Amino acid sequence: MRLRFNFRVYPTPGQQIELARAFGCARVVFNDGLRLRQEAREQGLPYVSDAELSKRIITLAKATPERAWLGEVSSVVLQQALADLNTAYRNFFASVSGKRRGRKVAPPRYRSRKDNRQAIRFTKNSRFKVLGNGRLRLPKIGDLAVRWSRALPSTPSSVAIIKDATGRYFASFVVQVTDELLPPVESEVGVDLGLTHFAVLSDGTKVAAPKFLRRAARKLKRLQQALARKQRGSQNRKKAVVKVARAHARVADTRRDWQHKLSTQIIRENQAVYVEDLCVTGLGRTRLAKSVHDAGWAGFTGMLEYKAARYGRAFGRVDRFFPSTRICSDCGRNNEKMALNVRTWDCPCGSHHDRDVNAARNVRAAGQADLNARGAHVRPGLVPAARNEAGTHPDAARSARSVEGISVR
Ligand SMILES: [Zn+2]
Repeated sequence: MRLRFNFRVYPTPGQQIELARAFGCARVVFNDGLRLRQEAREQGLPYVSDAELSKRIITLAKATPERAWLGEVSSVVLQQALADLNTAYRNFFASVSGKRRGRKVAPPRYRSRKDNRQAIRFTKNSRFKVLGNGRLRLPKIGDLAVRWSRALPSTPSSVAIIKDATGRYFASFVVQVTDELLPPVESEVGVDLGLTHFAVLSDGTKVAAPKFLRRAARKLKRLQQALARKQRGSQNRKKAVVKVARAHARVADTRRDWQHKLSTQIIRENQAVYVEDLCVTGLGRTRLAKSVHDAGWAGFTGMLEYKAARYGRAFGRVDRFFPSTRICSDCGRNNEKMALNVRTWDCPCGSHHDRDVNAARNVRAAGQADLNARGAHVRPGLVPAARNEAGTHPDAARSARSVEGISVR
């Protein structure tokens, strides 16, 4: 399995200039490539192949006075920018043709210098290197100081350098890791993700989002309101934007760390974990949107999934149309729909239920049934396909996984 390991890096002012140049060149190459393909399409010409695109947008362009400066940055950075564009196109085509499941993928969009997040990627053949003194050597950038919060388990196959909205820099390494099978345990658990509690487990455990996280989220909300009152284009507005971005990053980092701890604990203590496959993007458009995004369920279930694969546990998602709340986990009766404020209820069979714990128990039962039906129980967890390294394209970046205790963005 390949995982990302993220570390903060501290480029010198000179290195920051070189990085800005590389971000800029990668953006130009990406946009040139996009434009070329769009123009070909408008003129009714065939789709420009990856190889042809690379030749025209990088090799030939470097020989022209308008793009000669592309030669000032590592050519790998430019090739990787085009690789991102190609991935974005492939995802879009696969989505249009129905080969790719899930939410519809939009066609690639132009990148802007005003984007909150700038990124470039170096692969092995760029000869990036972690030096004996702990610095990260990048071609045509220099040796960057890195804060190593933990050791890399093996030699990374690539590294992305990211600058976030608050001006922080990160190195995100893609590293092959071996599975670390945990000793088997008996218990299996269903997880109900909700709004009143972050998660309720079928064993009755209720996990609320921690206070510090709620406090940070409240502060973020206040800053966002303050930003909304600032006049467009004003200096004060610019300052407020940075403040909001900082608070946002803090909330995201804190939440990720907390979710890593919780997901690791659940995986350690259970042989199988089942979650309800929530239609998070669907919910995201409703009134519940804000709290849903705050809760960060998708990121959390993603953590459970990859950790299950890595530690030899089973993981299953249960159909989201399954009425987990209404079914009595004791007798199986499908009861009437309940209002959101009903927290406990009684089944005609005599069972008294806590709404969320009952739902979690149903998720566990449905997950177990699913796995048995597929005969998947013999396999230790469903190993997600090794992901391609998450690219610098925003869509690809969302699929990146952060490793315990280390956060980015
Ligand atoms: Zn019942």
